[in-house]
Amino acid sequence: MDVIIAGTGIAGLMVAHELSRSGYRVLMISPGLRRSSSYRAQGGVAAPVLEDDSVESHLYDTLRAGDGLGDRQRILEMISEGREILLQLAEEGFPFDRENGRLALSVEGGHTRRRILHSGGVQTGRNLVEYFLRRVEGKVEYAEGYVVDIVVDGSRVRGVVMWDGEGIRVVYSRAVVVASGGYASLYRKSTNPDTSRGILMWNLYRKGLPLENLEFVQFHPTVFHAPDGSRILISEAIRGDGAILIDGNGERFVDERDTRDRVARAIFRKGGAYLYAGHLDRDLLLQKYSMLMSKLLDFGYDLTKDPVPVYPAAHYTIGGVKTDLYGKTAISGLRVIGEAASTRVHGANRLASNSLLEAMVMARRSYRALSDELPFLDYREVPHFPDPVPLEVPGRELLDRYAFVERDGSELAEVVEGIKDGPVRLILMSALLRRESRGVHYRRDFPEKDEEYRGYIVWKGGEWSWEPLR
Ligand SMILES: Cc1cc2nc3c(=O)[nH]c(=O)nc-3n(C[C@H](O)[C@H](O)[C@H](O)COP(=O)(O)OP(=O)(O)OC[C@H]3O[C@@H](n4cnc5c(N)ncnc54)[C@H](O)[C@@H]3O)c2cc1C
Repeated sequence: MDVIIAGTGIAGLMVAHELSRSGYRVLMISPGLRRSSSYRAQGGVAAPVLEDDSVESHLYDTLRAGDGLGDRQRILEMISEGREILLQLAEEGFPFDRENGRLALSVEGGHTRRRILHSGGVQTGRNLVEYFLRRVEGKVEYAEGYVVDIVVDGSRVRGVVMWDGEGIRVVYSRAVVVASGGYASLYRKSTNPDTSRGILMWNLYRKGLPLENLEFVQFHPTVFHAPDGSRILISEAIRGDGAILIDGNGERFVDERDTRDRVARAIFRKGGAYLYAGHLDRDLLLQKYSMLMSKLLDFGYDLTKDPVPVYPAAHYTIGGVKTDLYGKTAISGLRVIGEAASTRVHGANRLASNSLLEAMVMARRSYRALSDELPFLDYREVPHFPDPVPLEVPGRELLDRYAFVERDGSELAEVVEGIKDGPVRLILMSALLRRESRGVHYRRDFPEKDEEYRGYIVWKGGEWSWEPLR
């Protein structure tokens, strides 16, 4: 095999498409073709495509959301290149929604312009995944299972170890792309599929790669936590259309259009809230939110008249394996892309709809880098003694208790004592080390931003270090 790709979200699929088009033999591995955050993405993907918009304006909004930690140069590159990719997709016939023949754009929290391209209303992610699945069909191989270990020989990648539900086996390749998503479903309360557990992030950390920004987890404020354990995300678009949030006494308590982190904190402090849309135009609800309505109806809630109970849930993880926008790592032939990577473009808070953009740009760039590299990467079946990461990560419930919407230093200090190893420990430690509140990270004992902390907490080989912003 030339290239193995772990993950069939948008990042993995796009790089698979590009590689197979260039004639490389590609094997994709994932626990299910449609088990990804990408498949669930609703709102859309951001890029400055209107005449009155600009890369600079999108850059400014991204930097402002990032609360002092965004990498200006990389954001600029992401936006300019992302814009090209999206316009090209539109030209190729990807079904972005249109109005009078022109791209229909929406606006989301933190964006000062209309620049969110969407497809099928709120089915952007699903449509993107289906589009690329069709394009790679018959051109790449697929195996269902988890990659549980990466085969590294010195500083060179040689393949992966996969678990297919029955046993483990080594599969060799010239290069490997890790596109396995973030770690939001380490939290029990999460909007992600249960595959976003940072399994490969932890495996790569054990192989000496650095991780960073682990304390920055974005929480979605309005999630319906169903009794069967499933989570239904109620998009902020509905608050934009006038839905309100009320507490148990039927009182409003927060500006519904405030930023995600503030709304999440307000709901968290109330111990939960209700989203009410009964006063909105019934036709509008039926037309725009029919899928959401039918999902809620399954649990007995009629959005046109019932207040729906909502509570925050872990939604997007900014941290991950430290890379550049090409997904480059210290292991030659190994790239880490999409939400699995930390590229610093989101700073301390991700601007809505910038994550699909980042994943697409990284897919394109890693493909280009790999096509330059592959002629020099040989295939060799080296002996390997698998060191698989367990799929069940210990200590997960601690995240929901101590590293949720609000964190507290003394609680964190106490709880990390009891957990010796694993990704949960690194997340809790990072939340403890950042003694300030910035972006999505809120410390009850340090509620203000502190300029001393304008930098990144980087973990490598069991130690952490501090990297100030360049
Ligand atoms: C409900 C929801 C709505 C969202 N809405 C938006 C939006 O509107 N706009 C936006 O920009 N972003 C949105 N996001 C975030 C965005 O969807 C993700 O950041 C993005 O899709 C990440 O893409 P990815 O390809 O890196 O990872 P994913 O799409 O998460 O794909 C990861 C893949 O890796 C697989 N995998 C995991 N572990 C392993 C393993 N060990 N071995 C092999 N495979 C593995 C998974 O099964 C999956 O196939 C949303 C997220 C959620 C959950």
